[in-house]
Amino acid sequence: MTPFAFERAASVEDAVTAGSGATFLAGGTNLIDLMKENVTRPERLVDISRLPLKNIESLTNGGVRLGALATNADTAWNELVETRYPLLSSAILAGASAQLRNAATNGGNLLQRTRCYYFYDTATPCNKREPGSGCSAIGGVNRIHAILGTSQKCIATHPSDMCVALRALDAVIQIEGRDGKRQLPMAGFHRLPGDTPDQDSELRPGELITSIDLPPEHFTQHYTYLKLRDRLSYAFALVSVAAALKLSGGRIEAARVALGGVAHKPWRVEDAEKLLLGASPTDKVFAEFADALLFGAIGQGHNDFKIELARRAITRALRQAARGTPQLQTVKSVS
Ligand SMILES: Cc1cc2nc3c(=O)[nH]c(=O)nc-3n(C[C@H](O)[C@H](O)[C@H](O)COP(=O)(O)OP(=O)(O)OC[C@H]3O[C@@H](n4cnc5c(N)ncnc54)[C@H](O)[C@@H]3O)c2cc1C
Ligand code: SF4
Repeated sequence: MTPFAFERAASVEDAVTAGSGATFLAGGTNLIDLMKENVTRPERLVDISRLPLKNIESLTNGGVRLGALATNADTAWNELVETRYPLLSSAILAGASAQLRNAATNGGNLLQRTRCYYFYDTATPCNKREPGSGCSAIGGVNRIHAILGTSQKCIATHPSDMCVALRALDAVIQIEGRDGKRQLPMAGFHRLPGDTPDQDSELRPGELITSIDLPPEHFTQHYTYLKLRDRLSYAFALVSVAAALKLSGGRIEAARVALGGVAHKPWRVEDAEKLLLGASPTDKVFAEFADALLFGAIGQGHNDFKIELARRAITRALRQAARGTPQLQTVKSVS
Protein backbone atom coordinates (compact mmCIF):
# COMPACT_ATOMS: atom_id res chain seq x y z
CA MET A 1 0.00 0.00 0.00
CA THR A 2 1.37 3.40 -0.96
CA PRO A 3 0.66 6.00 1.76
CA PHE A 4 -1.71 8.82 0.84
CA ALA A 5 -3.35 11.78 2.56
CA PHE A 6 -7.12 11.63 2.98
CA GLU A 7 -9.50 14.51 3.55
CA ARG A 8 -13.19 15.20 3.15
CA ALA A 9 -14.31 18.28 1.21
CA ALA A 10 -16.92 20.27 3.16
CA SER A 11 -18.02 22.35 0.17
CA VAL A 12 -17.55 22.62 -3.59
CA GLU A 13 -15.20 25.54 -2.96
CA ASP A 14 -13.21 23.36 -0.58
CA ALA A 15 -12.87 20.64 -3.23
CA VAL A 16 -11.90 23.06 -5.97
CA THR A 17 -9.25 24.80 -3.89
CA ALA A 18 -7.62 21.43 -3.18
CA GLY A 19 -5.91 22.02 -6.54
CA SER A 20 -4.21 19.92 -9.16
CA GLY A 21 -2.50 17.53 -6.73
CA ALA A 22 -5.84 16.21 -5.45
CA THR A 23 -7.69 13.12 -6.65
CA PHE A 24 -11.42 13.16 -6.02
CA LEU A 25 -13.15 10.16 -4.52
CA ALA A 26 -16.85 9.83 -5.39
CA GLY A 27 -18.49 6.36 -5.26
CA GLY A 28 -15.05 4.74 -5.36
CA THR A 29 -16.21 1.81 -7.54
CA ASN A 30 -13.38 2.36 -10.03
CA LEU A 31 -10.83 4.45 -8.15
CA ILE A 32 -10.54 2.11 -5.14
CA ASP A 33 -10.01 -0.89 -7.44
CA LEU A 34 -7.27 1.00 -9.27
CA MET A 35 -5.59 1.90 -5.99
CA LYS A 36 -5.78 -1.69 -4.71
CA GLU A 37 -4.13 -2.91 -7.92
CA ASN A 38 -1.44 -0.21 -7.66
CA VAL A 39 -2.46 1.17 -11.07
CA THR A 40 -3.21 4.59 -9.59
CA ARG A 41 -1.27 5.96 -6.65
CA PRO A 42 -2.87 9.26 -5.54
CA GLU A 43 -0.93 11.23 -2.97
CA ARG A 44 -3.92 13.22 -1.79
CA LEU A 45 -7.41 11.76 -1.86
CA VAL A 46 -10.27 14.24 -1.45
CA ASP A 47 -13.62 12.66 -0.61
CA ILE A 48 -16.34 14.60 -2.45
CA SER A 49 -19.12 12.09 -1.82
CA ARG A 50 -20.99 14.31 0.69
CA LEU A 51 -21.06 17.46 -1.44
CA PRO A 52 -24.51 18.81 -2.32
CA LEU A 53 -24.29 17.77 -5.99
CA LYS A 54 -26.93 15.03 -5.95
CA ASN A 55 -29.96 16.89 -7.29
CA ILE A 56 -31.72 16.11 -10.54
CA GLU A 57 -33.80 19.09 -11.63
CA SER A 58 -35.57 20.68 -14.60
CA LEU A 59 -33.83 23.55 -16.39
CA THR A 60 -35.79 26.58 -17.57
CA ASN A 61 -34.92 25.72 -21.22
CA GLY A 62 -36.80 22.41 -20.91
CA GLY A 63 -33.69 20.36 -20.25
CA VAL A 64 -32.64 18.53 -17.11
CA ARG A 65 -29.56 18.96 -14.88
CA LEU A 66 -28.03 15.80 -13.37
CA GLY A 67 -25.92 16.39 -10.27
CA ALA A 68 -22.41 14.94 -10.63
CA LEU A 69 -22.85 13.05 -7.36
CA ALA A 70 -26.30 11.63 -8.07
CA THR A 71 -25.86 7.88 -8.27
CA ASN A 72 -26.34 6.02 -11.52
CA ALA A 73 -29.34 4.23 -9.93
CA ASP A 74 -31.01 7.44 -8.72
CA THR A 75 -30.47 8.94 -12.17
CA ALA A 76 -31.82 6.01 -14.18
CA TRP A 77 -34.94 5.72 -12.01
CA ASN A 78 -35.56 9.45 -11.63
CA GLU A 79 -38.98 10.33 -13.02
CA LEU A 80 -37.73 13.28 -15.07
CA VAL A 81 -35.03 11.14 -16.66
CA GLU A 82 -37.26 8.12 -17.20
CA THR A 83 -40.00 10.13 -18.87
CA ARG A 84 -37.91 12.63 -20.84
CA TYR A 85 -34.72 10.68 -21.53
CA PRO A 86 -35.58 6.96 -21.58
CA LEU A 87 -32.54 6.42 -23.83
CA LEU A 88 -30.32 7.52 -20.93
CA SER A 89 -32.18 5.38 -18.37
CA SER A 90 -31.83 2.34 -20.67
CA ALA A 91 -28.10 2.92 -21.15
CA ILE A 92 -27.39 3.32 -17.43
CA LEU A 93 -29.42 0.22 -16.54
CA ALA A 94 -27.49 -1.80 -19.14
CA GLY A 95 -24.29 -1.14 -17.17
CA ALA A 96 -22.62 -2.84 -14.19
CA SER A 97 -24.96 -4.33 -11.56
CA ALA A 98 -27.69 -2.96 -9.28
CA GLN A 99 -25.25 -2.82 -6.35
CA LEU A 100 -22.63 -0.95 -8.36
CA ARG A 101 -25.18 1.49 -9.79
CA ASN A 102 -26.27 2.30 -6.22
CA ALA A 103 -22.73 3.49 -5.43
CA ALA A 104 -21.44 4.76 -8.79
CA THR A 105 -21.95 8.46 -9.48
CA ASN A 106 -22.55 10.34 -12.72
CA GLY A 107 -19.25 12.25 -12.53
CA GLY A 108 -17.35 9.05 -11.80
CA ASN A 109 -19.01 7.27 -14.70
CA LEU A 110 -17.66 9.91 -17.11
CA LEU A 111 -14.14 9.48 -15.72
CA GLN A 112 -13.97 5.71 -15.22
CA ARG A 113 -10.80 4.28 -16.76
CA THR A 114 -10.50 1.76 -19.57
CA ARG A 115 -10.98 -1.97 -18.97
CA CYS A 116 -7.95 -2.94 -21.11
CA TYR A 117 -6.47 -5.97 -19.32
CA TYR A 118 -2.91 -4.65 -19.61
CA PHE A 119 -3.82 -1.31 -18.03
CA TYR A 120 -4.72 -3.25 -14.85
CA ASP A 121 -1.68 -5.55 -15.05
CA THR A 122 1.26 -3.57 -13.67
CA ALA A 123 3.71 -6.28 -14.83
CA THR A 124 3.09 -5.33 -18.50
CA PRO A 125 3.95 -2.21 -20.55
CA CYS A 126 1.06 0.22 -21.00
CA ASN A 127 1.31 3.78 -22.34
CA LYS A 128 -1.89 4.82 -20.58
CA ARG A 129 -0.63 3.72 -17.15
CA GLU A 130 3.02 4.54 -17.72
CA PRO A 131 3.63 6.90 -20.67
CA GLY A 132 6.41 5.74 -22.99
CA SER A 133 6.42 2.12 -21.81
CA GLY A 134 4.64 0.72 -24.89
CA CYS A 135 1.27 -0.83 -25.67
CA SER A 136 0.89 -4.52 -24.85
CA ALA A 137 -2.50 -4.77 -26.57
CA ILE A 138 -1.07 -3.99 -30.03
CA GLY A 139 0.02 -7.45 -31.14
CA GLY A 140 -1.27 -8.87 -27.86
CA VAL A 141 -4.69 -10.03 -26.73
CA ASN A 142 -7.05 -7.36 -28.02
CA ARG A 143 -10.52 -8.87 -28.33
CA ILE A 144 -12.19 -6.02 -26.40
CA HIS A 145 -10.20 -3.21 -27.98
CA ALA A 146 -10.97 -0.33 -30.33
CA ILE A 147 -11.59 -0.41 -34.07
CA LEU A 148 -11.94 3.36 -34.58
CA GLY A 149 -9.80 6.37 -33.67
CA THR A 150 -6.86 4.29 -32.43
CA SER A 151 -3.20 5.37 -32.44
CA GLN A 152 0.18 3.65 -32.46
CA LYS A 153 0.30 4.36 -28.73
CA CYS A 154 -3.05 2.96 -27.54
CA ILE A 155 -6.07 1.01 -28.78
CA ALA A 156 -8.14 1.08 -25.60
CA THR A 157 -11.88 1.76 -25.46
CA HIS A 158 -13.90 3.88 -23.07
CA PRO A 159 -16.07 1.42 -21.14
CA SER A 160 -19.09 3.53 -20.17
CA ASP A 161 -22.66 2.87 -21.28
CA MET A 162 -24.05 6.10 -19.82
CA CYS A 163 -21.60 8.21 -21.84
CA VAL A 164 -22.78 6.71 -25.13
CA ALA A 165 -26.32 7.93 -24.47
CA LEU A 166 -25.02 11.30 -23.22
CA ARG A 167 -23.14 11.73 -26.51
CA ALA A 168 -26.26 10.94 -28.55
CA LEU A 169 -28.25 13.39 -26.44
CA ASP A 170 -25.62 16.18 -26.83
CA ALA A 171 -25.18 16.57 -23.06
CA VAL A 172 -23.03 19.38 -21.67
CA ILE A 173 -20.62 18.88 -18.75
CA GLN A 174 -20.49 21.66 -16.14
CA ILE A 175 -17.07 22.07 -14.53
CA GLU A 176 -15.62 24.13 -11.71
CA GLY A 177 -11.94 24.78 -11.09
CA ARG A 178 -9.63 27.25 -9.41
CA ASP A 179 -9.94 29.50 -12.47
CA GLY A 180 -13.75 29.52 -12.33
CA LYS A 181 -16.56 27.69 -14.07
CA ARG A 182 -16.60 26.36 -17.61
CA GLN A 183 -18.49 23.82 -19.66
CA LEU A 184 -17.58 21.20 -22.22
CA PRO A 185 -19.93 19.49 -24.69
CA MET A 186 -19.87 15.69 -24.54
CA ALA A 187 -18.42 15.79 -28.07
CA GLY A 188 -15.28 17.46 -26.72
CA PHE A 189 -15.07 15.95 -23.24
CA HIS A 190 -13.36 12.61 -23.95
CA ARG A 191 -10.23 12.36 -26.12
CA LEU A 192 -8.82 10.03 -28.72
CA PRO A 193 -5.53 8.48 -27.54
CA GLY A 194 -3.11 10.09 -30.04
CA ASP A 195 0.35 10.47 -28.51
CA THR A 196 -0.97 11.01 -24.97
CA PRO A 197 -3.23 8.07 -24.11
CA ASP A 198 -2.68 8.71 -20.39
CA GLN A 199 -5.14 11.61 -20.76
CA ASP A 200 -8.69 10.30 -21.09
CA SER A 201 -10.51 13.63 -21.14
CA GLU A 202 -10.10 17.38 -21.50
CA LEU A 203 -10.76 17.89 -17.77
CA ARG A 204 -7.78 19.72 -16.24
CA PRO A 205 -6.08 18.47 -13.07
CA GLY A 206 -7.99 19.61 -9.98
CA GLU A 207 -11.19 20.47 -11.88
CA LEU A 208 -14.47 19.18 -10.44
CA ILE A 209 -17.44 18.06 -12.53
CA THR A 210 -20.47 19.63 -10.85
CA SER A 211 -23.30 18.51 -13.16
CA ILE A 212 -24.34 17.20 -16.55
CA ASP A 213 -26.95 19.15 -18.50
CA LEU A 214 -29.33 17.39 -20.87
CA PRO A 215 -30.71 19.61 -23.65
CA PRO A 216 -34.49 19.82 -24.22
CA GLU A 217 -34.49 17.40 -27.21
CA HIS A 218 -36.00 14.23 -25.72
CA PHE A 219 -36.40 11.40 -28.28
CA THR A 220 -39.01 9.59 -26.17
CA GLN A 221 -40.81 7.75 -28.98
CA HIS A 222 -38.04 6.29 -31.11
CA TYR A 223 -34.91 5.29 -29.25
CA THR A 224 -32.85 2.20 -28.47
CA TYR A 225 -29.83 1.38 -26.38
CA LEU A 226 -28.53 -1.90 -27.71
CA LYS A 227 -25.61 -3.44 -25.80
CA LEU A 228 -23.85 -6.55 -27.10
CA ARG A 229 -21.56 -8.33 -24.65
CA ASP A 230 -20.28 -11.73 -23.61
CA ARG A 231 -22.83 -12.13 -20.76
CA LEU A 232 -26.30 -10.64 -20.49
CA SER A 233 -25.45 -8.70 -17.34
CA TYR A 234 -22.44 -7.50 -15.40
CA ALA A 235 -20.26 -7.26 -18.51
CA PHE A 236 -18.85 -4.35 -20.50
CA ALA A 237 -19.98 -3.73 -24.08
CA LEU A 238 -18.19 -5.30 -27.00
CA VAL A 239 -20.31 -2.97 -29.10
CA SER A 240 -23.18 -0.76 -28.00
CA VAL A 241 -25.44 1.60 -29.92
CA ALA A 242 -27.46 4.56 -28.65
CA ALA A 243 -29.93 5.40 -31.39
CA ALA A 244 -32.46 8.22 -31.30
CA LEU A 245 -34.81 9.10 -34.15
CA LYS A 246 -37.64 11.51 -34.84
CA LEU A 247 -40.05 10.37 -37.53
CA SER A 248 -42.62 12.43 -39.36
CA GLY A 249 -44.87 11.21 -42.18
CA GLY A 250 -42.85 8.00 -42.53
CA ARG A 251 -39.55 9.90 -42.97
CA ILE A 252 -36.63 10.49 -40.62
CA GLU A 253 -36.68 14.07 -39.37
CA ALA A 254 -33.82 13.85 -36.85
CA ALA A 255 -31.25 11.15 -36.10
CA ARG A 256 -28.52 10.69 -33.50
CA VAL A 257 -26.41 7.56 -33.24
CA ALA A 258 -23.43 6.99 -30.91
CA LEU A 259 -21.39 3.82 -30.43
CA GLY A 260 -19.74 2.37 -27.34
CA GLY A 261 -17.07 -0.32 -27.03
CA VAL A 262 -15.38 0.67 -30.31
CA ALA A 263 -13.20 3.69 -29.51
CA HIS A 264 -11.40 5.67 -26.81
CA LYS A 265 -14.52 7.86 -26.59
CA PRO A 266 -18.19 7.43 -27.50
CA TRP A 267 -18.11 7.37 -31.31
CA ARG A 268 -20.43 9.61 -33.27
CA VAL A 269 -20.10 11.12 -36.76
CA GLU A 270 -22.63 13.93 -37.24
CA ASP A 271 -21.91 14.16 -40.99
CA ALA A 272 -22.90 10.51 -41.45
CA GLU A 273 -26.24 11.20 -39.73
CA LYS A 274 -27.15 13.51 -42.63
CA LEU A 275 -27.57 10.35 -44.74
CA LEU A 276 -30.59 9.47 -42.61
CA LEU A 277 -32.36 12.82 -42.78
CA GLY A 278 -35.44 12.79 -45.02
CA ALA A 279 -34.98 9.09 -45.78
CA SER A 280 -37.47 6.28 -45.15
CA PRO A 281 -36.48 4.10 -42.18
CA THR A 282 -35.47 1.00 -44.18
CA ASP A 283 -32.75 -1.58 -43.53
CA LYS A 284 -31.01 -0.48 -46.75
CA VAL A 285 -30.77 3.12 -45.54
CA PHE A 286 -29.61 1.96 -42.08
CA ALA A 287 -26.93 -0.31 -43.60
CA GLU A 288 -25.58 2.56 -45.74
CA PHE A 289 -25.48 4.73 -42.65
CA ALA A 290 -23.67 2.00 -40.69
CA ASP A 291 -20.95 1.88 -43.35
CA ALA A 292 -20.53 5.66 -43.12
CA LEU A 293 -20.40 5.63 -39.31
CA LEU A 294 -17.82 2.82 -39.36
CA PHE A 295 -15.71 4.38 -42.13
CA GLY A 296 -12.02 3.77 -41.40
CA ALA A 297 -12.64 0.97 -38.89
CA ILE A 298 -9.60 -1.31 -38.52
CA GLY A 299 -9.40 -4.56 -36.58
CA GLN A 300 -6.37 -5.39 -34.42
CA GLY A 301 -6.56 -9.15 -34.90
CA HIS A 302 -8.67 -10.64 -32.12
CA ASN A 303 -11.26 -7.87 -32.39
CA ASP A 304 -11.75 -7.99 -36.19
CA PHE A 305 -15.24 -9.40 -35.56
CA LYS A 306 -16.28 -6.10 -34.01
CA ILE A 307 -16.52 -4.38 -37.41
CA GLU A 308 -19.26 -6.70 -38.67
CA LEU A 309 -20.83 -6.87 -35.21
CA ALA A 310 -21.05 -3.07 -35.09
CA ARG A 311 -22.47 -2.91 -38.61
CA ARG A 312 -25.27 -5.31 -37.68
CA ALA A 313 -25.86 -3.71 -34.28
CA ILE A 314 -26.31 -0.25 -35.82
CA THR A 315 -28.88 -1.54 -38.30
CA ARG A 316 -30.74 -3.50 -35.62
CA ALA A 317 -30.78 -0.62 -33.15
CA LEU A 318 -32.11 1.79 -35.77
CA ARG A 319 -34.76 -0.73 -36.86
CA GLN A 320 -35.89 -1.12 -33.24
CA ALA A 321 -35.89 2.64 -32.70
CA ALA A 322 -37.91 3.27 -35.87
CA ARG A 323 -40.52 0.73 -34.75
CA GLY A 324 -40.82 2.46 -31.39
CA THR A 325 -39.84 -0.72 -29.55
CA PRO A 326 -40.38 -0.09 -25.82
CA GLN A 327 -37.14 -0.29 -23.85
CA LEU A 328 -38.18 0.18 -20.24
CA GLN A 329 -41.35 -1.18 -18.70
CA THR A 330 -41.56 1.82 -16.42
CA VAL A 331 -41.23 4.49 -19.10
CA LYS A 332 -44.28 6.70 -19.35
CA SER A 333 -44.99 8.85 -22.39
CA VAL A 334 -44.45 12.58 -22.12
CA SER A 335 -47.62 14.62 -22.55
C1 LIG B 1 -17.42 -5.00 -11.85
C2 LIG B 1 -17.78 -3.70 -12.52
C3 LIG B 1 -18.58 -3.73 -13.64
C4 LIG B 1 -18.93 -2.55 -14.27
N1 LIG B 1 -19.71 -2.56 -15.41
C5 LIG B 1 -20.00 -1.41 -16.05
C6 LIG B 1 -20.75 -1.40 -17.25
O1 LIG B 1 -21.17 -2.45 -17.75
N2 LIG B 1 -21.00 -0.21 -17.84
C7 LIG B 1 -20.56 0.98 -17.31
O2 LIG B 1 -20.83 2.02 -17.87
N3 LIG B 1 -19.82 1.00 -16.19
C8 LIG B 1 -19.54 -0.16 -15.56
N4 LIG B 1 -18.78 -0.13 -14.43
C9 LIG B 1 -18.13 1.11 -14.05
C10 LIG B 1 -18.89 1.96 -13.08
O3 LIG B 1 -20.01 2.50 -13.74
C11 LIG B 1 -17.91 3.04 -12.66
O4 LIG B 1 -16.94 2.43 -11.82
C12 LIG B 1 -18.60 4.17 -11.92
O5 LIG B 1 -19.52 4.83 -12.74
C13 LIG B 1 -17.58 5.15 -11.38
O6 LIG B 1 -18.25 6.06 -10.55
P1 LIG B 1 -17.74 6.31 -9.07
O7 LIG B 1 -18.59 7.39 -8.47
O8 LIG B 1 -17.64 5.06 -8.29
O9 LIG B 1 -16.30 6.90 -9.40
P2 LIG B 1 -14.94 6.80 -8.57
O10 LIG B 1 -14.41 5.43 -8.63
O11 LIG B 1 -15.08 7.45 -7.21
O12 LIG B 1 -14.04 7.78 -9.46
C14 LIG B 1 -13.70 7.47 -10.78
C15 LIG B 1 -12.85 8.62 -11.33
O13 LIG B 1 -13.63 9.79 -11.49
C16 LIG B 1 -13.07 10.88 -10.75
N5 LIG B 1 -14.23 11.65 -10.30
C17 LIG B 1 -15.35 11.14 -9.73
N6 LIG B 1 -16.25 12.11 -9.57
C18 LIG B 1 -15.69 13.26 -10.03
C19 LIG B 1 -16.16 14.63 -10.13
N7 LIG B 1 -17.37 15.00 -9.75
N8 LIG B 1 -15.31 15.54 -10.67
C20 LIG B 1 -14.07 15.19 -11.09
N9 LIG B 1 -13.58 13.92 -10.99
C21 LIG B 1 -14.39 12.97 -10.49
C22 LIG B 1 -12.25 10.24 -9.67
O14 LIG B 1 -11.20 11.09 -9.22
C23 LIG B 1 -11.70 9.01 -10.38
O15 LIG B 1 -10.60 9.37 -11.18
C24 LIG B 1 -18.45 -1.30 -13.76
C25 LIG B 1 -17.66 -1.29 -12.60
C26 LIG B 1 -17.32 -2.47 -11.99
C27 LIG B 1 -16.46 -2.41 -10.76
S1 SF4 C 1 -4.43 -0.33 -25.32
FE1 SF4 C 1 -3.95 1.49 -24.14
S2 SF4 C 1 -4.53 0.90 -22.10
FE2 SF4 C 1 -4.25 -1.01 -23.23
S3 SF4 C 1 -2.08 -1.62 -23.07
FE3 SF4 C 1 -2.23 -0.34 -24.86
S4 SF4 C 1 -1.72 1.68 -24.05
FE4 SF4 C 1 -2.33 0.45 -22.30
